[in-house]
Amino acid sequence: MRIVVLLGAPGAGKGTQAHVLARHLALPRIATGDLFRTAVREGTALGAEARTYMYRGELVPDGITVRMLLERLAAPDAARGAILDGFPRTRSQAEALDAALDERSVRVEAALLIDVPVVDLFSRLSGRWLCAAAGHPYHETADPPRVAGVCDVDGSPLVQRDDDRPDVVRARLDGQLGALGEVVDHYRAAGLLWTVDGRLSIAGVSAALLDAIEPAPWWRRTS
Ligand SMILES: [Zn+2]
Repeated sequence: MRIVVLLGAPGAGKGTQAHVLARHLALPRIATGDLFRTAVREGTALGAEARTYMYRGELVPDGITVRMLLERLAAPDAARGAILDGFPRTRSQAEALDAALDERSVRVEAALLIDVPVVDLFSRLSGRWLCAAAGHPYHETADPPRVAGVCDVDGSPLVQRDDDRPDVVRARLDGQLGALGEVVDHYRAAGLLWTVDGRLSIAGVSAALLDAIEPAPWWRRTS
């Protein structure tokens, strides 16, 4: 069973690469947010338990999250393994995952870190603007409109979501980078960490990630 953990800060492109890896490796992508939503929707016992915490605005305990993850890994489509996207998020979650997998004589095969310098993360996340009329997306530096502050498509003004405001982005990065660093250290100490330069193109990052875990680069044969 191949359990591959994908790690990256907000803005590192982790979600995009998780989909690419899942397709190339023919493994399901498992994101904890989806696990919660599915378990609550399907009314499983664990979903009900998780919901009591979510209703109170509390974090779902790691033990419940890990049990949900194990339930998901027991599904037929995950028989060969899975790409974990967004979990573990903290050192204690990483340790809980190791312990739970160990009981099943499984271990994480690799942890892949998409590494992007903080200054680049900040500019990626805080430069996003949307048009007021239809939500057409722009980026200050990567994809600016022809006329500053105006949508190319419909001429409506560009606005910034609260989540994309520089002060909010800064606080979010500060809050998450510490925990990410601990998870990275956990897998580095276990000898399972592979670091990929997240400043490469999307295709470049995908190739580097696949290089890290696929000893025989079959995807190159056709190119
Ligand atoms: Zn527009």
